[in-house]
Amino acid sequence: MHKPRKRFGQNFLRDQSVIQRIVETISPKLSDHLIEIGPGLGALTFPLLKKIDKLDVIEIDRDLVLFLKNKAEDKLTIYEQDALQFDFSSLSQKPHSLRIVGNLPYNISTPLIFHLIGYASIISDMIFMLQKEVVERMAAAVDADDYGRLSVMVQYHCLVEALFDVSPDAFNPPPQVTSTIVRLVPYEKLPHVAKNYAHFAEVVKQAFSQRRKTLRNSLKKLVSDEDWKNLKINPELRAEKLSVEDFVKISNSKES
Ligand code: SAM
Repeated sequence: MHKPRKRFGQNFLRDQSVIQRIVETISPKLSDHLIEIGPGLGALTFPLLKKIDKLDVIEIDRDLVLFLKNKAEDKLTIYEQDALQFDFSSLSQKPHSLRIVGNLPYNISTPLIFHLIGYASIISDMIFMLQKEVVERMAAAVDADDYGRLSVMVQYHCLVEALFDVSPDAFNPPPQVTSTIVRLVPYEKLPHVAKNYAHFAEVVKQAFSQRRKTLRNSLKKLVSDEDWKNLKINPELRAEKLSVEDFVKISNSKES
């Protein structure tokens, strides 16, 4: 019997009705190129395998990789790797071709989401279980309490849809928090395009690094008074008042 490892965020799904609901939400088509992050003991993996021709999984825990290999089916390709380091473009380069799913390890969920949005152009959708609080941050509207860097960066790339909550007793061991299933759909055509993505990401990072500061202060090194005049955005505001579009405008003002 595998003893759940805290350091790998192991909370295994055990409630069959929840598992079924997640698989129905993923609704895999035979030809989908599906990738599961953190298959664990296969709670989602095995039901998914029944519905598709091919499944790639990424698992960091050696023991779980061995467990899965023993049960291996031809359709299953197991990558024993850290999903945070995984190069998703090694699986496909075709635009919007990958579907990525998983009950994610909560201890690395935010960095993992940041890693994944770097591959948004080759992803068709992502369906994840995450802490409710992280989903709320991803989906937050401008000026909401939980609107921040994660909201802006995810919403730049994706449509975010919180689907349903899952209570801790659906897992073994139960996590401390309520979980939520979320669907992220990368835009085929970005609504607002940053001319220099790295600069945009830096503007957003700096703007939220000291939330209580005005934009003029937090972005002092990146945006001059002259730039602010041209931008028609009030620099006395705080970051949480700005939409994705506003951040893109600020970023693009440097590049034009
Ligand atoms: N999918 C299984 C389920 O629903 O029962 C397990 C989910 S558990 C919350 C998270 C899984 O992610 C574990 O199997 C864990 O070993 C794996 N994991 C943790 N950190 C990882 C990483 N950096 N890269 C890949 N897998 C990771």
